[in-house]
Amino acid sequence: MRAQPKASHFIDGEYVEDDAGTLIESIYPATGEVIARLHAATPAIVDKAVASARRAQKQWAAMSPTARGRVLKRAADIMRDRNRALSELETLDTGKPIQETIVADPTSGADSFEFFGGIVATALNGSQIPLGGDWAYTKRVPLGVVAGIGAWNYPQQIACWKAAPALAAGNAMVFKPSETTPLGALKIAEILIEAGLPKGVFNVIQGDRDTGPLLVGHPDVAKVSLTGSVPTGRKVAGAAASQLKHVTMELGGKSPLIVFEDADIDGAISGAMLGNFYSTGQVCSNGTRVFVHRSRKETFLARLKDRTEAIVVGDPQDERTQMGPLVSFAQREKVLGYIDKGKAEGATLVTGGGIPNTVSGEGFYVQPTVFADVTDEMTIAREEIFGPVMCVLDFDTEEEAIARANATEFGLSAGVFTADISRAHRVVDQLEAGTLWINTYNLCPVEMPFGGSKQSGFGRENSAAALEHYTELKTVYVGMGKCEAPY
Ligand code: NAD
Repeated sequence: MRAQPKASHFIDGEYVEDDAGTLIESIYPATGEVIARLHAATPAIVDKAVASARRAQKQWAAMSPTARGRVLKRAADIMRDRNRALSELETLDTGKPIQETIVADPTSGADSFEFFGGIVATALNGSQIPLGGDWAYTKRVPLGVVAGIGAWNYPQQIACWKAAPALAAGNAMVFKPSETTPLGALKIAEILIEAGLPKGVFNVIQGDRDTGPLLVGHPDVAKVSLTGSVPTGRKVAGAAASQLKHVTMELGGKSPLIVFEDADIDGAISGAMLGNFYSTGQVCSNGTRVFVHRSRKETFLARLKDRTEAIVVGDPQDERTQMGPLVSFAQREKVLGYIDKGKAEGATLVTGGGIPNTVSGEGFYVQPTVFADVTDEMTIAREEIFGPVMCVLDFDTEEEAIARANATEFGLSAGVFTADISRAHRVVDQLEAGTLWINTYNLCPVEMPFGGSKQSGFGRENSAAALEHYTELKTVYVGMGKCEAPY
């Protein structure tokens, strides 16, 4: 086994196995080869992980924010020192090319630990409220044990984006990675211990859609932070609501990217390619509905076709490769199914549309694909594909573009390309989305809040705003005189 960890779970500072759990095979998407065998957490393992987190959280929350921050910053340094090895593991876990993982995955996780480690000492202050003679004060307190549940597209980044604000605020976390990409989070747990995190503050358990509910429903879990699809979000939010637990929901999207007639066309094509082909199209915030002003359609499509056909698809471990396979056989079947629907429903296939003949073997590859003449009713314009499939739609007026962009249940992201500064702000003001870009796309630095509206979720990750989602306010009224009553 090329990437076999010491055991499936990491609890209380050490690797733990329980062979009674369902077998999880970790498959390298570029070859179909099994690279590790793990087991889903049994109810006993879930209990063990939550109990350990509960014990550890008290000690962790009692440390000063500066001391907690120091641990997180140390973890960031270790992650940067090991960027190469962590990126290689991320490539094995996901099939994403090393060219990407080396700049986008562990580095983004390290940014998150560094950022929250840095701000926590000043970001958790409460307020003092004068009430005449009496007064009140507020404290921002941790919630307790938080469950983190991850998707498979950014396994290390998702683990860090959830752990960093949760831990900075004084919570403990039990993290369950996706069953498709179980490896990266275990390394994050090891690194945090090495950085000085008390045992049990960050535990990792493996599991699938049957394991997740055990964690969500556990009475000692105070909050659930999920990154996943909308249907899973509905289930998890529903289960959490039945016990009145806090939730953060980072869900799917079908985001619009609007290219106006005055846009820098090459820049807009770069944005559209980043927002459809990075990570083989497996990015939640992708701008998969590209609305191009009818007057620029021909130029846009001609240059886009040339640039798309020049993308180097192949072995993710080769530094020159720009696009790897999809994460799994099932995901490839799903994406190919959508491509067939696009053809059947009358969209024009500009390029791609199948399995590339330049790669050999059993990998889960799909060609970068562009459809033009896509209309709002087509399945490929309505449903999240989560693969390298760009839909180009035409429009004539600003009002029309905004109305059509908003005509979706999703609201994760949106983008606008235009040279007109007033138009840019006027349009983003009207687009119904949580995270928006002007003249660029998909950049998510840790300083900036990230998250969705409508069915794409609620709560925010990154930035100081994330700390609010991992704490609650405690209010204390201080009576300065004698307490009196009317009876
Ligand atoms: P998924 O919804 O199938 O699974 C997500 C996680 O939830 C997995 O760990 C899975 O085991 C777990 N799970 C499934 N059912 C559960 C249940 N009933 N209770 C508890 N846990 C359960 O998603 P996926 O296929 O792994 O990832 C792709 C999806 O994630 C896409 O829709 C994508 O848009 C979304 N995503 C969103 C963001 C964001 O930040 N908004 C980021 C990445 C991915």
